[in-house]
Amino acid sequence: MTDSWVNETLYPDWGQRFRVKRELARVKSDFQDIMIFESFTHGRVMLLDGVVQITEADEFVYQEMLTHVPLLAHGDARRVLIIGAGDGGVLRRVLQHRNVERAVMVEIDGDVIRLAKEHLPGIAGDAWHDPRAQVIVGDGIHYVREAEAGSFDAIIVDSTDPIGVGEVLFTDEFYASSARLLSDRGLIVNQCGVPAMQADELRETSIRRAKSFADVWAYVAAVPTYVGGYMTLGWAAKDASLRTLPSAEIARRAEAAGVVGRTRYWTPEIHAAAFHLPPYIAEHLPRT
Ligand code: SAM
Repeated sequence: MTDSWVNETLYPDWGQRFRVKRELARVKSDFQDIMIFESFTHGRVMLLDGVVQITEADEFVYQEMLTHVPLLAHGDARRVLIIGAGDGGVLRRVLQHRNVERAVMVEIDGDVIRLAKEHLPGIAGDAWHDPRAQVIVGDGIHYVREAEAGSFDAIIVDSTDPIGVGEVLFTDEFYASSARLLSDRGLIVNQCGVPAMQADELRETSIRRAKSFADVWAYVAAVPTYVGGYMTLGWAAKDASLRTLPSAEIARRAEAAGVVGRTRYWTPEIHAAAFHLPPYIAEHLPRT
């Protein structure tokens, strides 16, 4: 039997490949081509339209940084909106925060949720059954258009890249609606690509965020299967002081939130350091 390989198709001229132990699901949903397989090197892997979304081996890096940084920077986020994140990993980590009272997750593709529950159960754990969680199958742009002003403290956008269904989550309208939804010290973070290969995504979406938020920046995480070096998480906040908290204050908040000892990438020091960007990334951000 010849080895079977899956090639990631994010970039036409370069990319990673996985040797497949066993294909677990291959579904063409109303929105995208969903594939989940068992790899030899990274546990189970999910691709959407040929792009790596999550692997069991390194999802913790990304989920921890996308969740703990905004919630601890805010300091008392009780109402959190999650957009995308169909695998449930962000939801699970949001619910680890003691002071979170409500976590609304809006995922456009019900098949992603269904298949993640079936084939990647460890990603979300029992987050789906938490009484604080509300899972909505719908388009994030519609949700933010209609939700009540000031009804959330933090918004986490864990979407696919700004192509196809994900595109609306990177628009002026989306950021203006998000600013309306957020309370006075509110903030929004989003997966914003790998700048070594996708600098335009960081630059163009940061310009749009700056139209609705006072403080626009980014922070980094090293996710092995988001190939190309650091990936960036886009940052937009109403209060610039949230970004420059000393690690001692971050540690105090993490202790109070009940997050300490439950992470494998995030630490208070990594949190503070993640905002210090190498010039090749900082050059794509608006001068503040
Ligand atoms: N960690 C992954 C990454 O960085 O590429 C993303 C994880 S998650 C699987 C991405 C999710 O965003 C997908 O399940 C996709 O269906 C969802 N999504 C894309 N566009 C959306 C939209 N307009 N509204 C809600 N969810 C959306």
